[in-house]
Amino acid sequence: MMESQEKIFGLVDCNNFFVSCERVFNPSLRRKPTVVLSNNDGCIISRSNEAKKLGIPMGAPYFEWRDLMKAHRVTVCSANFTLYADLSRRIAEILSQFAPEVEKYSVDEVFLAFDRLALSDLTEYARHIKAVVQRWVGIPVTVGIGTTKTLAKLANDIAKVSPEFQGALNMIECREWNERIATMPVGDVWGIGYRLSKKLTEKGHKTVLDLKEASDGWISDTFGIGVLRTVWELRGISCLPLKEVLPPKKGITVSRSFGEVLRSLDELKEAVAFFVTRGAEKLRAEGSSAAIVSVYVSMKQLDGSHGQGEWSTVRLPMATNYTPMLIHYAHEALQHLYRPNKRFVKAGIMFGGIVPTGSEQMTFGISEEKIKRGTQLMQTMDEINGRWGARAIQSAAVGTNHGWKSRHTMMSPAYTTRWDELQLVR
Ligand SMILES: [Mg+2]
Repeated sequence: MMESQEKIFGLVDCNNFFVSCERVFNPSLRRKPTVVLSNNDGCIISRSNEAKKLGIPMGAPYFEWRDLMKAHRVTVCSANFTLYADLSRRIAEILSQFAPEVEKYSVDEVFLAFDRLALSDLTEYARHIKAVVQRWVGIPVTVGIGTTKTLAKLANDIAKVSPEFQGALNMIECREWNERIATMPVGDVWGIGYRLSKKLTEKGHKTVLDLKEASDGWISDTFGIGVLRTVWELRGISCLPLKEVLPPKKGITVSRSFGEVLRSLDELKEAVAFFVTRGAEKLRAEGSSAAIVSVYVSMKQLDGSHGQGEWSTVRLPMATNYTPMLIHYAHEALQHLYRPNKRFVKAGIMFGGIVPTGSEQMTFGISEEKIKRGTQLMQTMDEINGRWGARAIQSAAVGTNHGWKSRHTMMSPAYTTRWDELQLVR
């Protein structure tokens, strides 16, 4: 039996993640061959099991496979990264309830620390986690468990292709472990890329088991300490700790349907500036800053319905809660969405990449003095607005002709002459 001090890692990996996300909202895609393409429909970046069976490789250029996919009636989806990021965040949030520590490793992988849990049957627990994610989010996942991250990842890989494990494999209890890894190519090991696996194979280390049993001296001399660490991890000696990441904070969103249809970019810019102003107040109230600004709009369709929202996202050079800077980037995002002669009925903003203010303060070409002045100005604005009503003063970008405001939120301006010099913020 294992020692009590031993580490135990779980890796929850979403199956064919992007395709699975598409299936959540389009159940007709289930059991049908489906792929998701990268930006600009360039390459295939996610494949359903049915698509994998057709031999379509990961990362293949779309145009090379278009004919074959047509012949096999493969459904092709353009990537919807906003949707995938949202489902990813929800899954990470759910998983954080199942272990005292979690690390969101990638968009579709989360490591969990199981060693501090008193659980007699981890495999059953893992299957429970799988069932909960399936029920709450609708995404199928596989769970691998091991005494190191590398082993948890291998266990995950094995469970994914071996239905007898029902989506969860705990390698600690797997009696035929060495037999299994003796049949896996060395390139299947986490961190052993194409070049390394080619070199290892040439030197006779063809399988995962070969690498596990390689000599320390030869490995470190030939490949360096990084690969040696991987070899130790294969032997159950944990070298890669969990980088604990708190469950990602929910983004701040502000959105509204317009009181009337908007057509001009200027009106939209005013509306977006207003939403950003409200969102930035929320950021400052909780002492945080945002590094990602997303804007979305929806347009009235010819049949009178409201179309699906369209999103545009920009990453800021630094996290900030300074309203004018956030407005600047939100307007940049808006430019990508605006189309003349369209009838805009709704818009909104979302802040992401939220961090405590000061933790990521980098000053790309912006003087300390300027940041300090900006911070003071924001503080003053928040104080005044707190005292005189929410819209007492705000950035000039918000404008004064608020035809875009929903009627029920129309507010009478409460400008105060005393603070005249603060009315314009650039
Ligand atoms: Mg995956």
